[in-house]
Amino acid sequence: MSDIKSLEQQHIMPTYGRFPVALVKGQGACAVSDDGKTYLDFTTGIGVNALGYCPESWVRAVCEQAATLQHTSNLYYSKPQAELAQRLHELTGFGKVFFANSGAEANECAIKLARKYGCDRFGETHTKIVTLQNSFHGRTITTLAATGQDTFHHYFNPFTEGFSYADAESLESIQKAADADTCAVFIELIQGEGGVRPLDPAFVKGLSDFCKEKEILLMIDEVQTGVARTGKLFCYEHFGIQPDVITSAKGLGGGLPIGACLCTEELGKILNSGMHGSTFGGNPVACAGALAILEQVAKPEFLKEVREKGEYLAKKLREIPGIVEVRGKGLMIGAVLEETRKAADIAKACVEQGLLILTAKTLLRFLPPLNISCDDLDRGLAILRQVLNP
Ligand SMILES: *Cc1c(COP(=O)(O)O)cnc(C)c1O
Repeated sequence: MSDIKSLEQQHIMPTYGRFPVALVKGQGACAVSDDGKTYLDFTTGIGVNALGYCPESWVRAVCEQAATLQHTSNLYYSKPQAELAQRLHELTGFGKVFFANSGAEANECAIKLARKYGCDRFGETHTKIVTLQNSFHGRTITTLAATGQDTFHHYFNPFTEGFSYADAESLESIQKAADADTCAVFIELIQGEGGVRPLDPAFVKGLSDFCKEKEILLMIDEVQTGVARTGKLFCYEHFGIQPDVITSAKGLGGGLPIGACLCTEELGKILNSGMHGSTFGGNPVACAGALAILEQVAKPEFLKEVREKGEYLAKKLREIPGIVEVRGKGLMIGAVLEETRKAADIAKACVEQGLLILTAKTLLRFLPPLNISCDDLDRGLAILRQVLNP
């Protein structure tokens, strides 16, 4: 650890606050550090290793593709890309997809698509986008601008113009923020980084109706909530709405970098040759990994188990003294602590006891592997209970 730490301090920009752990291998819900200590992982990266560490079918698919063809430019047709696109279409009904490498990049695509839609349909100025206060959409200059939190709007001026931020509880606030030049509303349905805050279904339904009426695109950032994380393949399915655009990333590649922007058949005509692209986007190895992940997580029985495990985890968390509120859906759960306790301190103490756990704002956040066993859930819960009640 100390070698790695000193190399890092010499050579890597200090942009991350890290726990004093270097993980070197993993299997299922467990990872092992360089000093041989085993950790139970309730983080999956940050919702990335959807089926835990090194799941068999994913490893096989990825290794086979890497040994066959690791990359071609997007100047040529790609079988893994085409197959993943077809699978996503079969599973969601969305007509077209663009493949990127990350959540922020998938969101950039959605933003470009929305602006071009507004421009084509209503004119050059019709390119404003409404997002929500307390949202998180990524770290590029434009997705930071889309992010509705002032703390992200320092140092890097000028930010991309054309975003306004509405209150996530109030349809009136949306109606006020959406002016005659608004082309899209772009939201998370459960604000992840913002503190695991699920939106009110009535608000979401009202928003969807409002967008339809005004021909404003409804775009959902499913980067964290997608790929079965909430117990449906995508979170919007819980809300009885049909968005125009969704973005996916984190869990999609099962640990490999991939992002996707999915849209309706009609919107799929808007960005054409030369208007958008990516050198690495839709990499064959990442696509093969994503196909292997979808193969498992899209099954109705699997999704049902995610919902059941989520309910179990939430119920058990509610029974732990020191936790005052539990919220979220499926295996995307946040636990609010009594005011006297700091989530960062609790997370640190859990790591020392062999449980990797995330925070979001002042909450503890749980994003365990979607296929975690109830035994592993119980083991993690026991560590957390002990840390909160020594
Ligand atoms: C993590 C996240 C992003 C950014 O994804 P990157 O892959 O880090 O670019 C965007 N939106 C949401 C909702 C996220 O949770």
